[in-house]
Amino acid sequence: MDTILILLFFLLGLIFGSFFNVVGMRVPQRQPFTNDRSMCPQCTHQLKWYELIPVLSYILQHGKCRNCRENISLLYPSTELITGVLFAFCYIKNGLTPELATALLLMSLLVIILVSDIRYMLIPNKILLFFLPLFIIMRVIQPFEPWWSSITGGLAGVLILAAIILISRGGMGAGDMKLFGLLGIVLGLEKIFVVFFLSCVIGAVIGSGLLIFKVIDRKQPVPFGPHIVAAAVITYFNGDVLLNWYFNGLM
Ligand SMILES: [Zn+2]
Repeated sequence: MDTILILLFFLLGLIFGSFFNVVGMRVPQRQPFTNDRSMCPQCTHQLKWYELIPVLSYILQHGKCRNCRENISLLYPSTELITGVLFAFCYIKNGLTPELATALLLMSLLVIILVSDIRYMLIPNKILLFFLPLFIIMRVIQPFEPWWSSITGGLAGVLILAAIILISRGGMGAGDMKLFGLLGIVLGLEKIFVVFFLSCVIGAVIGSGLLIFKVIDRKQPVPFGPHIVAAAVITYFNGDVLLNWYFNGLM
């Protein structure tokens, strides 16, 4: 039974991932994402249902548009696959509890931001504002112990990033700051510090990796969002382990 549900959440994630691709691509460009049909960005060929199957269509078409043979960005199937895996892990961690809804919402936000930040170096306000009330409602229904950890977490998230933005002048923007505020509400006071620490470590490792292998040069800006997303995912699923490590290491 459990295996079936895990698989079900994986498949649900694939489908939602496909939708998050559209949201992450269109919302920053102020395009509607609800009424018009999906099409190839190169030749505007309208996609048939069998060209819209998450991951599978990409594999069957060898990563090319059926009409113009242009390469389809690897970002699309990657997003679908990532969402599938994350949704499955949300169920494995939480079972069928109210916290599962929070987890799924959090992963949805993170995937959409991943898409739009990689594509446009932008974290749209519209997306953040959509999730803010949902996260507040979920943390009222499922409060932390102590309950004010959400409020202080949100404030701490904003303040840490505001300080970094003032000190560093560039690198991180207002979008990153607002995202940290949201993450603080969902993850609480202690874990927002874990997210911050991890996103700096991930950013440093990936940033220097990209420089060493000359994928980018020193002047090229790198979106910081994906590092925050990775840090938030690790913290959500393993935050307690990391906190225990840290505190036991101090003793
Ligand atoms: Zn095409």
